[in-house]
Amino acid sequence: MAYDIKIINGSIIDGSGAKAYAGEVGIKDGKIVALGNAPEDAAEVIDAKGNVVCPGFVDIHTHYDAQIIWDRMLTISPWHGVTTTVLGNCGFGVAPTRAEHRDLIVRTLEKVEGMSAETLFEGLGQDWPFETFPEYLDAIEKSGSAINVAVMIGHTPLRLYVLGEESTDREATEEEIATMRGIVKESLEAGAIGFASSKSFTHTGYKGKPVPSRLASTEEIKELARPLGELGRGIMQATVGPGLSFDEFDEISLENKAT
Ligand SMILES: [Zn+2]
Repeated sequence: MAYDIKIINGSIIDGSGAKAYAGEVGIKDGKIVALGNAPEDAAEVIDAKGNVVCPGFVDIHTHYDAQIIWDRMLTISPWHGVTTTVLGNCGFGVAPTRAEHRDLIVRTLEKVEGMSAETLFEGLGQDWPFETFPEYLDAIEKSGSAINVAVMIGHTPLRLYVLGEESTDREATEEEIATMRGIVKESLEAGAIGFASSKSFTHTGYKGKPVPSRLASTEEIKELARPLGELGRGIMQATVGPGLSFDEFDEISLENKAT
């Protein structure tokens, strides 16, 4: 057989920007070997009549950080054709989190993302299988995931981890910033694809207080972005707000540009 799988009668959108066209797709050893015309025989033929056949979508903004621990299907993204999903957006996440801050971080997600705290507590269980960010990545790897996953380290859990409850009340000291910067670097080395934050006034968390990242100075955010430059890879995402918008992003990218 020339193909393992042949998809026929579909409306192909090939991802090049070209308009949809009727055609067939031939797949061999996990790779597309025929596109448009696939005249050879296949071990399995899928009739895609009435459906679109296209590359998987990359959903760059999701908040599956907690859900992925109990739902390896990442319901419902794959049903929409998503094949890669990015976690940690807006600086939210569940790692690193000390045992005594679990309630706080869940209550923050409940407020900012409208998630059910009851569901989060139930799904994450009494004993979370991680504390640090590298341990969190290990936990994801162990339970597995139905689609590709990329995770950014979030400023909110990071700040709560280092400053404790004061993270929602004050700026960080130089020493605390250095500690956080070290953790960002360690997280990138463990596999994080970047660092994420939020300065948005809409992000209000536990007890109606601003989420921890909103208390960060622009200087703190710039410091925490430096490991991206040092390692020469990774991305930064943020929900913009006072002290973090286009001008600051300009400066951050110039300060960390690849040499
Ligand atoms: Zn978000």
